[in-house]
Amino acid sequence: MIGLISATAAGAAARDRLAAAWPDRTRVYEGAVADAVRAAFAECEQLVCFLATGAVVRLVAPLLGDKASDPGVVCVDEGGRFAVSLVGGHGGGANELAREVGALLGAEPVVTTATDSVGLAGLDTLGLPVEGDVAAVSRALLDGEPVALRAESAWPLPALPVAADGSYTVRVTDRAVEPAAREVVLRPPTLVVGVGASRGAPADEVLALIEGALREAGLSARNIAHLATVDAKAGEAGIVAAAERLGVPLVTHPSERLAAVEVPNPSDAPLAAVGTPSVAEASALVGGGELLVPKRKSAMATCAVVRRPARGRLAVVGLGPGARDLLTPRAEAELRRASVLVGLDQYVDQIRDLLRPGTRVLESGLGAEEERARTAVEEARKGRAVALIGSGDAGVYAMASPALAEAGDDIDVVGVPGVTAALAAGAILGAPLGHDHVSISLSDLHTPWEVIERRVRAAAEADIVVTFYNPRSRGRDWQLPKALAVLAGHRAPTTPVGVVRNASRPDESSRLTTLAELDPATVDMMTVVTVGNTATRAIAGRMVTPRGYRWQEQEEAR
Ligand code: SAH
Repeated sequence: MIGLISATAAGAAARDRLAAAWPDRTRVYEGAVADAVRAAFAECEQLVCFLATGAVVRLVAPLLGDKASDPGVVCVDEGGRFAVSLVGGHGGGANELAREVGALLGAEPVVTTATDSVGLAGLDTLGLPVEGDVAAVSRALLDGEPVALRAESAWPLPALPVAADGSYTVRVTDRAVEPAAREVVLRPPTLVVGVGASRGAPADEVLALIEGALREAGLSARNIAHLATVDAKAGEAGIVAAAERLGVPLVTHPSERLAAVEVPNPSDAPLAAVGTPSVAEASALVGGGELLVPKRKSAMATCAVVRRPARGRLAVVGLGPGARDLLTPRAEAELRRASVLVGLDQYVDQIRDLLRPGTRVLESGLGAEEERARTAVEEARKGRAVALIGSGDAGVYAMASPALAEAGDDIDVVGVPGVTAALAAGAILGAPLGHDHVSISLSDLHTPWEVIERRVRAAAEADIVVTFYNPRSRGRDWQLPKALAVLAGHRAPTTPVGVVRNASRPDESSRLTTLAELDPATVDMMTVVTVGNTATRAIAGRMVTPRGYRWQEQEEAR
């Protein structure tokens, strides 16, 4: 919950805007400001104070405890010009909140924590448990001092700008080690703990068994990805509570699935009770990996520990049509999550400034699509975090399909949708896609022309709005006139046609014309062409395809 505190009328107005925008995330604290700040500090994860920074500093100073647990505090000035991340920039999420509040109120976010101000990875923002001297190592990274990466666990980390050796170290491990001086330990979720228990096994016993197993094997509980057990034990209170206390999810598997897993220590008891000769070992091993602690028992419980194989991560990211503000926040986050970026050079140029320092960029020229797809998948298979980028939506006539055709289930794949050219053009033209519509690529490089023409004819006969991608290039000039002629066989010469070139890019242009009057020479590969259906009209210079509600109502009334 975000506590909102204000003192003046202007502050209250800005406060109310936030409260209205985020009704479920915010709570307004009224009354005397000092009391309100104290109450919100105790009750909320974050505070937004519409007060001077000086006033807030004085009020929160006696309340501050620890940067890991204190709420994040953001101040917005009386004029609503700045959203200042005051305390709890990373741990309390105040930096992110300052950006969000800034975006909502039109205020400039002010972030002063060093790693954010130069766009470096804050070591405590990677989403992994982190131990050791985060401040010193972050400062060393920032100052460009040599920092060594000691990766004992392969894990798809974002780019960390580290050197081969140095007096500072970033260690990635699941061993139970104390960070040395000038060292930070990152703990990726590498361990799966399989658990079995008789009915009524106490949580304390389950937990003690797990902790003992980890301790003897020299492993850290902070690297546990999840506890795993058989479906029949999904509600077993001791197991559920153990997972809760460890702060990890409980994953359950059907007994048939577990029965098929080969384990070193099967036994008859669970076979009779839940239908698999192994619960702990099998549920730890079901996703593959190395058995570090074979089954061990207490009076009522069993457990086993597996180090799962590193799974690389492939993000297929659509960059939108060109303009930076049509790139989604999620796409931006994925670009910063990656350590390897694969893409066409012209698209890489579009987003280079968003990458973390140290990101490896594998760019290539036009064509070479399959090679790019293969490279991206190969890099992910090595356990890396890869972003494969494409303009518009990466799944539309782009890299997602060749990449996923190569990828197996040994990597994680994340797709980030982007604004595809047809939508970007539609918004410029008006509302051409208000009823059923298709996209057709006129490139016959990989598709025989007969197939393309058959699809154009089908769209023509079905009276569907059509957007042509790849409409015309220097070597391919007869396809567009031919396709338009097919549509003209079923639509009036006055049917509106929108031509949009470089949508949302600096030299954007658009024209509204008709089927009879379109001059194909004005169309090139930077263009999409949208042809209306028989109901589409040009209204006040805009292309409008009616939604056909009235027609639907008549049909339903019949
Ligand atoms: N994945 C892309 C499409 C790739 S095919 C997307 O979703 O938009 C390439 C074709 O897309 C170009 O020939 C052109 O027809 C169209 N295109 C891509 N970006 C465009 C833009 N900004 N303006 C107009 N057309 C565009």
